[in-house]
Amino acid sequence: MIVYNLACNQHHPFEGWFASPADFEQQRDRGLVECPVCGSTQIERKLHAPRINTGAAPVTRQDAVEAATQPDGEIDFGQLREAMLGFAQHVRDNTEYVGERFADEARAMHYGEKEHRGIRGRADRDTAEALREEGIEFASLPFPVDFPNAH
Ligand SMILES: [Zn+2]
Repeated sequence: MIVYNLACNQHHPFEGWFASPADFEQQRDRGLVECPVCGSTQIERKLHAPRINTGAAPVTRQDAVEAATQPDGEIDFGQLREAMLGFAQHVRDNTEYVGERFADEARAMHYGEKEHRGIRGRADRDTAEALREEGIEFASLPFPVDFPNAH
Protein backbone atom coordinates (compact mmCIF):
# COMPACT_ATOMS: atom_id res chain seq x y z
CA MET A 1 0.00 0.00 0.00
CA ILE A 2 1.19 3.53 -0.78
CA VAL A 3 0.43 6.74 1.03
CA TYR A 4 0.46 9.85 -1.12
CA ASN A 5 0.53 13.41 0.07
CA LEU A 6 -2.10 15.11 -2.06
CA ALA A 7 -3.48 18.57 -2.56
CA CYS A 8 -6.51 19.88 -4.40
CA ASN A 9 -6.55 22.84 -6.78
CA GLN A 10 -7.23 25.07 -3.78
CA HIS A 11 -4.10 23.75 -2.05
CA HIS A 12 -5.83 21.84 0.74
CA PRO A 13 -3.35 19.15 1.83
CA PHE A 14 -4.50 15.63 2.66
CA GLU A 15 -3.35 12.04 2.44
CA GLY A 16 -4.62 9.25 0.23
CA TRP A 17 -4.05 5.49 0.46
CA PHE A 18 -3.66 3.49 -2.72
CA ALA A 19 -2.81 -0.03 -3.78
CA SER A 20 -0.34 1.20 -6.40
CA PRO A 21 0.60 4.29 -8.43
CA ALA A 22 -1.71 3.05 -11.19
CA ASP A 23 -4.52 2.72 -8.66
CA PHE A 24 -4.05 6.35 -7.68
CA GLU A 25 -4.10 7.56 -11.30
CA GLN A 26 -7.12 5.45 -12.15
CA GLN A 27 -9.09 6.63 -9.13
CA ARG A 28 -8.12 10.24 -9.71
CA ASP A 29 -9.07 10.10 -13.39
CA ARG A 30 -12.46 8.65 -12.43
CA GLY A 31 -13.02 11.48 -9.95
CA LEU A 32 -12.89 9.13 -6.95
CA VAL A 33 -10.14 11.05 -5.17
CA GLU A 34 -11.82 13.95 -3.48
CA CYS A 35 -10.52 16.77 -1.29
CA PRO A 36 -11.98 16.20 2.21
CA VAL A 37 -12.16 19.96 2.76
CA CYS A 38 -13.86 21.30 -0.37
CA GLY A 39 -14.80 18.20 -2.37
CA SER A 40 -12.68 19.14 -5.38
CA THR A 41 -11.61 16.22 -7.57
CA GLN A 42 -8.77 18.19 -9.21
CA ILE A 43 -6.03 16.50 -7.21
CA GLU A 44 -2.26 16.56 -7.53
CA ARG A 45 0.46 14.63 -5.73
CA LYS A 46 2.82 16.59 -3.50
CA LEU A 47 6.50 15.81 -2.80
CA HIS A 48 7.45 12.17 -2.55
CA ALA A 49 5.46 9.79 -0.43
CA PRO A 50 6.57 7.17 2.05
CA ARG A 51 5.94 3.59 1.00
CA ILE A 52 4.77 1.13 3.60
CA ASN A 53 3.73 -2.45 3.68
CA THR A 54 0.99 -3.35 6.13
CA GLY A 55 1.07 -7.03 5.23
CA ALA A 56 -2.32 -8.64 4.84
CA ALA A 57 -4.36 -5.54 5.54
CA PRO A 58 -8.03 -6.46 5.00
CA VAL A 59 -8.88 -2.96 3.85
CA THR A 60 -7.14 -0.74 1.35
CA ARG A 61 -8.49 2.55 0.18
CA GLN A 62 -9.42 0.86 -3.10
CA ASP A 63 -11.26 -1.91 -1.25
CA ALA A 64 -13.06 0.76 0.73
CA VAL A 65 -14.07 2.69 -2.36
CA GLU A 66 -15.22 -0.46 -4.15
CA ALA A 67 -17.23 -1.57 -1.14
CA ALA A 68 -18.88 1.82 -0.93
CA THR A 69 -19.68 2.17 -4.65
CA GLN A 70 -23.35 1.62 -5.38
CA PRO A 71 -24.67 -0.11 -8.53
CA ASP A 72 -25.37 3.32 -10.06
CA GLY A 73 -21.73 4.32 -9.57
CA GLU A 74 -22.36 6.71 -6.70
CA ILE A 75 -20.19 6.40 -3.59
CA ASP A 76 -21.93 5.91 -0.27
CA PHE A 77 -19.80 8.01 2.07
CA GLY A 78 -21.26 6.35 5.14
CA GLN A 79 -20.02 2.99 3.86
CA LEU A 80 -16.67 4.50 2.88
CA ARG A 81 -16.26 5.77 6.42
CA GLU A 82 -17.09 2.30 7.78
CA ALA A 83 -14.46 0.73 5.55
CA MET A 84 -11.82 3.23 6.64
CA LEU A 85 -12.72 2.51 10.25
CA GLY A 86 -12.04 -1.14 9.43
CA PHE A 87 -8.59 -0.17 8.31
CA ALA A 88 -8.01 1.80 11.51
CA GLN A 89 -9.12 -1.28 13.44
CA HIS A 90 -6.56 -3.38 11.57
CA VAL A 91 -3.82 -0.93 12.55
CA ARG A 92 -4.95 -1.04 16.16
CA ASP A 93 -5.01 -4.82 16.24
CA ASN A 94 -1.54 -5.12 14.73
CA THR A 95 0.40 -2.35 16.42
CA GLU A 96 1.24 -1.25 19.92
CA TYR A 97 0.65 2.36 20.92
CA VAL A 98 3.93 3.83 22.19
CA GLY A 99 2.92 7.51 22.22
CA GLU A 100 5.80 9.97 22.43
CA ARG A 101 8.32 7.08 22.56
CA PHE A 102 7.69 6.38 18.87
CA ALA A 103 11.09 7.66 17.65
CA ASP A 104 13.01 5.86 20.42
CA GLU A 105 11.21 2.58 19.74
CA ALA A 106 11.58 2.88 15.97
CA ARG A 107 15.32 3.50 16.33
CA ALA A 108 15.79 0.64 18.79
CA MET A 109 14.22 -1.77 16.28
CA HIS A 110 16.06 -0.27 13.32
CA TYR A 111 19.43 -0.63 15.03
CA GLY A 112 18.72 -4.14 16.28
CA GLU A 113 18.38 -3.31 19.98
CA LYS A 114 14.80 -4.57 20.04
CA GLU A 115 12.72 -7.17 18.20
CA HIS A 116 10.71 -5.82 15.26
CA ARG A 117 7.06 -5.30 15.99
CA GLY A 118 4.29 -3.02 14.78
CA ILE A 119 4.08 0.25 16.64
CA ARG A 120 2.14 3.46 16.30
CA GLY A 121 2.75 6.74 18.07
CA ARG A 122 3.62 10.36 17.67
CA ALA A 123 6.59 12.23 16.28
CA ASP A 124 6.95 15.91 15.49
CA ARG A 125 7.96 17.01 12.00
CA ASP A 126 11.68 17.41 12.76
CA THR A 127 11.87 14.01 14.42
CA ALA A 128 10.00 12.39 11.53
CA GLU A 129 12.46 13.90 9.04
CA ALA A 130 15.40 12.68 11.11
CA LEU A 131 13.95 9.15 11.15
CA ARG A 132 13.51 9.20 7.37
CA GLU A 133 17.10 10.37 6.92
CA GLU A 134 18.22 7.41 9.02
CA GLY A 135 16.34 5.13 6.63
CA ILE A 136 13.63 4.17 9.08
CA GLU A 137 10.35 3.46 7.31
CA PHE A 138 7.02 4.56 8.71
CA ALA A 139 3.84 6.17 7.46
CA SER A 140 1.57 8.97 8.52
CA LEU A 141 -1.91 7.65 9.18
CA PRO A 142 -5.06 9.49 8.12
CA PHE A 143 -6.73 9.00 11.50
CA PRO A 144 -5.81 9.51 15.19
CA VAL A 145 -3.44 6.88 16.56
CA ASP A 146 -3.85 7.31 20.31
CA PHE A 147 -6.74 4.87 20.73
CA PRO A 148 -6.18 2.10 23.29
CA ASN A 149 -4.22 -1.04 22.49
CA ALA A 150 -6.26 -4.06 21.48
CA HIS A 151 -4.15 -6.38 23.61
ZN1 LIG B 1 -9.85 21.34 -1.31
